[in-house]
Order: sequence, then structure tokens, then C-alpha cells
Amino acid sequence: MASRLYVPYLALRSADKDELVVNPPAYCSHCSTIPAEYYETHVVRLRANRIPHRSIGRKFRTEKKLIVRLPLCRACYLNDYLTSPDAYTHDDTPLGKEARRTTLLSNISGFTASIGILLITPFIPALGILAFIKSYWYVLVSLGFVILAVAWLLQRRSMQAVRAELASLRPGGSKYPRALVWNTPVEGDLESGSVILEMNIENETWAGDCARMNVWRIE
Ligand SMILES: [Zn+2]
Repeated sequence: MASRLYVPYLALRSADKDELVVNPPAYCSHCSTIPAEYYETHVVRLRANRIPHRSIGRKFRTEKKLIVRLPLCRACYLNDYLTSPDAYTHDDTPLGKEARRTTLLSNISGFTASIGILLITPFIPALGILAFIKSYWYVLVSLGFVILAVAWLLQRRSMQAVRAELASLRPGGSKYPRALVWNTPVEGDLESGSVILEMNIENETWAGDCARMNVWRIE
């Protein structure tokens, strides 16, 4: 059964403003291995309408993006990439770079295909040079699919490399899944002790040490 950690606002104030690196405990939050030099990254939206305190509301504007990082060993870092490659786009690692490239190519593919589809609608009148451009709508749609296929092939190749390294590091995959991290609605004024984040952690030993070392509530 998972443990739930309650992270107070105080933890965010003492951390970097846009990033909360949960360390200690400095061992893998999945399998308890040392060293844990990688991180499981979560992007959490802190919404101002959930933070009624006026000065904090100004500071956070309407929405603040917070990156939460939990320590991982290399094997667990590789393992998570196979199931959640999209979660790696904020990582300053080779896999983070791969994830950003996949996202970029997917966006370009979607944009190109959308323009192609737009060309066959009556929104673009078939007048003058536009009539000529409209006749080539299928080129843009095809190009969109080609870019998407390239993105898929590149991601497949990087996953094959990850699988090969993982098989040599630790056959059998990860012990625990990714944590769940979310913003908590704050009732009344936001005090240092107000809970602003909740995290569900499957590794109860890690969660227990985390609560003790950071002085956070746990259930
Ligand atoms: Zn691990």
C-alpha cells in the first residue's frame, strides 16, 4: 500500500522557487538503491485560485509551474522512460533531450498536417496563387505523417537502447511505479505549515524516511 506525504508550503519557500528537489533521503525512491543520481520529474500546476492569500496570489500570478524531483537510481530512471517518455522533457539528460525532440517533431507534424487540412476547407478561398497552393494540400498532410513516423522511429530506437542497457543493469524492471504528485487546495490564508502538495509513494521505507528527514506529515 502506498504512503501519502503532505508537503507544506514552507518546503517550497526554502527550495528553489520553480523546483522542489526532494533530497534527503538520498537513495532511490523506487528500489532504495544507492547511489540515486537521477530524478523522477513531475510538473505540477499551482493555481492562484487555490491560494487565497493576497500577496502569494500576486507572487504566483494565475498559475505557477512547479517541477518536483524525486531521487532515482539509473535502472529505475531507464525503466520509467519505457512507460512515461513524455515525463522526461524537463530533464537535463540524454533521455531528456530525446523526449524534447519527440515532442518537437510531434508538434511540427501536427502543425504541418493541420495547415494541409485547412487548405481543403472553404476558409482558404481558391483565388489566384491560393488556388495553386490549395491543390497541393496533400503534400503538407503527407509531410505531417512522415515527420510523425520519423518521431516514432527515433523514439523506438532510443527505447531499444534503453531496454538493452536496462537488461544488463537489472533484468525484471522496476519494483514500483512512478509516484503521484498533485496540488492541494488551500483553505483560508496560506501559512508556512499549509499543505500545498500531496504525493503518493509506493516505497514506504523511502516515504517514511522522507517524512522524518524533512519533517513532513505522512499517512
Ligand atoms: Zn531504483
